[in-house]
Formats: sequence, C-alpha cells, structure tokens
Amino acid sequence: MSAEKTAAEIVQAYDGRPIRVMEVCGTHTHAIFEHGIRNMLPDNIQLISGPGCPVCVTETGFIDEAVWLALEKNVTITTFGDLVRIPGTEMSLAGARAKGAKIRIVYSPLDAVNYASDHPETNVVFLSVGFETTVPAACLAVKRAMELGIRNFSLLTANKTMDRAYRVLKGSADAFLYPGHVSAVTGMKIYEELKNEGISGVVCGFTAGEILTALAMIVKKIGSGEPFAENAYTRVVTEEGMPIGRKLIEEIMEPCEAAWRGIGVIEGSGLKLREKYAACDARLVYDMPEIQGRPNPACRCGDVLMGRIKPYECPLFGKVCTTEHPVGACMVSSEGTCSAYYKYNI
Ligand code: SF4
Repeated sequence: MSAEKTAAEIVQAYDGRPIRVMEVCGTHTHAIFEHGIRNMLPDNIQLISGPGCPVCVTETGFIDEAVWLALEKNVTITTFGDLVRIPGTEMSLAGARAKGAKIRIVYSPLDAVNYASDHPETNVVFLSVGFETTVPAACLAVKRAMELGIRNFSLLTANKTMDRAYRVLKGSADAFLYPGHVSAVTGMKIYEELKNEGISGVVCGFTAGEILTALAMIVKKIGSGEPFAENAYTRVVTEEGMPIGRKLIEEIMEPCEAAWRGIGVIEGSGLKLREKYAACDARLVYDMPEIQGRPNPACRCGDVLMGRIKPYECPLFGKVCTTEHPVGACMVSSEGTCSAYYKYNI
C-alpha cells in the first residue's frame, strides 16, 4: 500500500500556525462550498473570500452610466445577465427596463456585435466587465466591429486586471488561491513578481481535487516562511499563459485607474480602449458626463470583498437581502460571496 498522503490528508494534518488563505475568485468560493471543503479544514486554516468576482467589484457608478445610456441616449444595452439586477444609485438595469429601456442579454461580446450589425437602426452598447479571462473577447468584438465598419456598436468598459489588486490585498491573507482561468491568460510571470514582493499563492483549478491540492501546496510551503508562487493547475495554466490573448489586449486597450468596490481606486488596474479605438468607446461616443454612484450605505459588500467580515455579519444578510431581493452586488452575482453563503445556508 502506498505511503503517499492524499492532498486532503495533508491539509487535515496541518498543525502549524493559524493561516488565512484568500480565494480571490468567486468561482472558487462557490466550488469550495459546493464540495464542502470548508467543513474538512482544521481550525488553523481559515478560508476568506476576496474581490475576484468581476460583477461584485464593479462600482455603482458603472450601473448608473449604463442606465443613463439606456434612458437618456436610448441605446440598446447588451450585457451578461448578472449585471441587470445589480442595484444602481436610483435603479438597476432591470428597473430601467421597466421604464422602457432596451436591455438585451447576450452570451458573448461578439453576439452584441452581430446584433448591432443586424439592427443598424439602433445604437448598441456592450457592458464590458471582467478580468484578463474575458477581456480578449471584448477586444476581439471591437476589432471585428471596426473591420466590418459597424458604427452602431461600442463598449462601456469597467475591465480590470488582478495583479495590482494582490498588492493592495497584501497582508489580508497569508496566501492566495490564484484564479485558474485568469492565470491561463497571464501565465506564471505575474506570480513570480508578486513572490519577489513577499506575496504568496498557488494557482488553483476548480474541482475538489484541484482545490485541495492547492491547499496542500500552501500547507507544505508556508512553514518555510519564504514567499512562494506555485501552479496546481498545470493541465490548463502554463508558464507563458496565452500570449495571443495578452497581445490582443495590449493592441486594443491600455491601463487606466479603476475604482474597485470595497477597495477604492487602484492606479493602473483598469483597462480602457486606446485612442485608435475611440469610435467604440461609449463614454466618448455619447459624450457621457461624470457620473458618481452612491451605493446603499447599509450594504457591507466592500467589507465582504476585502475579507473583513463574513456575509452573515452584514445585518441585512438573509433578512432584507436575499438572492430573490438582493441589496448589493455580492448577493446578485452568481459568483458573489454573499450569494454563496446564502445558497449554501451558512
Ligand atoms: S448581504 Fe446583501 S447588503 Fe449585506 S453585504 Fe451582502 S450584498 Fe450587501
């Protein structure tokens, strides 16, 4: 019989100092609940959820901008489903739809381009949120619209990159579970750079085995006291990542400052269209004024996203705020931490 321990056994046998591991990705948060992984952990390993759900970190002002475009400029908003129910300052996009706004759910940015091509009589804006995983598809849509001469398509961007967020989150956790899908694009280089700055983590897949393997790697490494950057998702994530995707992003977009719900503004952590593609930038096309959102002051999404509180410590959780009647983005999003705690009855 093999004397090799399984990943679960390694994690459960951990008897070192208490450690906090932050799963920054909402897909990880939900997978961890689904597989009952929290219940398997010893008391000295604490999992905390971080700001890796793109919908959750999108500021209220972005929803207000989309509502403004829909109601004031009569554009057709195309978007993924989760964004429709996120509360804005005055209303969500669902609320705007009740007032006559044209809101259309699409499954990719290219769907939005095709819709614009098929409906030249309407102006179409795609709400582009998300990290490195989804940005290449948005860039491809812009490129295609420009190549085909489609003039009634533009993007409202709130795209972000994760590397600067890790630096801001330094100290919030002893190690990160890095998101596998983002890492498939970035490759391992950014994590080596983070390691050199004293930030540790392991790239992690989404099955129970992959999550436990990543936790076992953390447990094995943490005792040395040295920062580390490991890959527990080698079937998908390579050292070089996806250079074609990064090249596409680099060609179409450039870094800008970005406001993260709960974190604030992080210089260089956002992506906006380069000047060459200004004809597809909805803020410029529609001469959008500065729009400042005001989130519901009772919602503690920001504290949840920073791992400062658990969702059930928010006084609204499960009472006023449920998945049926969400008050904040973290309860709306299918990747949100509050929705995970609510769904799994924590
Ligand atoms: S439970 Fe609702 S109100 Fe409370 S932090 Fe989560 S989303 Fe916001």
